[in-house]
Amino acid sequence: MNFRDEELERYARQIVLPQVGGVGQRKLKEANVAVVGAGGIGSAVIPALAGAGVGRLTIIDCDKVELANLHRQPLFRERDAGYSKADLALQFVQRLNRFVNATPVQERIGADNAGRLLQGHDLVVDGSDNFATRLAVSDACVELGIPLLSAAAVQFQGQVGLFRGKPCYRCFVGDAFDSDDCDNCAELGVLGALTATVGGFAALLGINAITGVGEDQSGLLHLFDGEKLSWRAIRIPPDPACRACASA
Ligand SMILES: [Zn+2]
Repeated sequence: MNFRDEELERYARQIVLPQVGGVGQRKLKEANVAVVGAGGIGSAVIPALAGAGVGRLTIIDCDKVELANLHRQPLFRERDAGYSKADLALQFVQRLNRFVNATPVQERIGADNAGRLLQGHDLVVDGSDNFATRLAVSDACVELGIPLLSAAAVQFQGQVGLFRGKPCYRCFVGDAFDSDDCDNCAELGVLGALTATVGGFAALLGINAITGVGEDQSGLLHLFDGEKLSWRAIRIPPDPACRACASA
């Protein structure tokens, strides 16, 4: 896979990084990433991945833009209210980087269709806003053997974790939340600067994972405290009774 002159110029500031280089840039171009949720997290993740030159992006979101999204979802403008987030995110990517092949999916992802929607991807970035969706996405990733980068932000707390099979996201959360489809942000509140911070961290972790920069982060959960303004990381132990990954 060769790069055109325009691509070399576009990505010059990251290709010059010895940890990335031409090899890392090629890995980005060959990557096929699904982003679940074009909300607050997605508004940080999608531009970062598209800008970095991830070759294929699938953007899965069934929602339409609402006025109450705009404080934390800079993918969208006032005039976008009422229109499909997935389609608008596609237009954003097309305006940013014509070398990215993006596909919008206007479906609500759940246990019934997650396997079909996610198969074939190299990495899934989940920025959805509820536990039921996150668990369905996680179970499908375990089943399909796809690494899952899960990111969430609510109130002043954020968390980002990379899961490769075992332990999985369900090992961390358990089985109590499968029917919990509440919108955390609507009920609990969140700041746009928090979702941008957590989403930006997730995008960096994802790019590092694709290019092989740094140590493998799988099984670590990174926690951000937006009041103390500090990150810490904890290791998630595999749950030997986990119904998703224990037999995997
Ligand atoms: Zn598990």
